[in-house]
Amino acid sequence: MALGEFELIRRYFSSLADGGRGLVLGVGDDAAVTVLEPGEQLVTCTDTLVRGVHFPDDAAPRDIATRALCVNLSDLAAMGATPRWYTLALTLDAADEDWLREFAAGLSDVSRRHGCALIGGDTTRGPLCISITAMGSVPAGRYLSRGGARPGDAVYATGRLGEGAAALAFLQRRLPCTDSEATHLHQRFYCPAPRLNEGLLLRSLASAAIDISDGLLADAGHIATASDVGVRIDVDCLPLPEVAAATPDALLRWALTGGDDYELCFTVPPDRFAAVEALIAAGDLMARRIGAMVEGSGVECYDRGNRWTPPWPLAGYRHF
Ligand code: ADP
Ligand code: MG
Repeated sequence: MALGEFELIRRYFSSLADGGRGLVLGVGDDAAVTVLEPGEQLVTCTDTLVRGVHFPDDAAPRDIATRALCVNLSDLAAMGATPRWYTLALTLDAADEDWLREFAAGLSDVSRRHGCALIGGDTTRGPLCISITAMGSVPAGRYLSRGGARPGDAVYATGRLGEGAAALAFLQRRLPCTDSEATHLHQRFYCPAPRLNEGLLLRSLASAAIDISDGLLADAGHIATASDVGVRIDVDCLPLPEVAAATPDALLRWALTGGDDYELCFTVPPDRFAAVEALIAAGDLMARRIGAMVEGSGVECYDRGNRWTPPWPLAGYRHF
């Protein structure tokens, strides 16, 4: 017999509420009820993944699930929040049980790893689309935001930049890779590690932060705009992907304008440079200094100290 809507939810999604600290009422009622401790604030974000736009048509259900949840947790990381709960609005062409089992297993992997619980959602029929709303908590007033950078602050980025675009090129068979590169890039695309620990560390160190989903120049530009200052990027300092077949030009273009990195870009005031450098030296923060905030507005690039203009279009990906 075909799987009905309520049985589908019960079978695959009701159990994903395990580990939901502060959960009073989860999947099964008209809405979920949760508790925040006194002195905490709720941080909420939503990201939607559409088949053919955010992942290839032939993507595996487990991969789709891990990507959908990880990209949301990346937004919480950029806010310095601790993940708590999420809801799932799922639009499916068909109730395929093999697909659902794998999809739920992917959600379960990521939610266990990061201690967040599925507390509700909605299930509809239509072209495959996954929309997740993630909720996290921060001690009151301690969230990170895009505003708050000042001229003289240093700009840092975690991880390597451009791996999201390199991964997409690989998945679209535009980039030949060795087996180990392929494994790494597949993982980067479908299970990008949300920089949650880094976000927590940065609460007391960064003046502004953003997660890099639209490309470094676009996202560093968002910090500049929100902070009402300019930003300078030193392109010779960027940590680039290690992919043997990619040209230096492609690596730099991916790092500056490629999307889907889900690393953090953050700014640090001068009196905290030493603290950040100490964390990096101790191996507790994987980040590199890539520029500085400056007077003025917008983004400018330098290469070994000389003004440099990217030879390609600068806009990050825009849907409209
Ligand atoms: P309503 O009609 O009141 O909106 P639904 O029938 O849509 O309720 O959902 C029943 C319950 O199942 C609700 O608690 C809802 O949060 C939950 N739910 C529905 N779809 C999902 C899903 N994809 N993942 C998790 N929970 C879901
Ligand atoms: Mg409903």
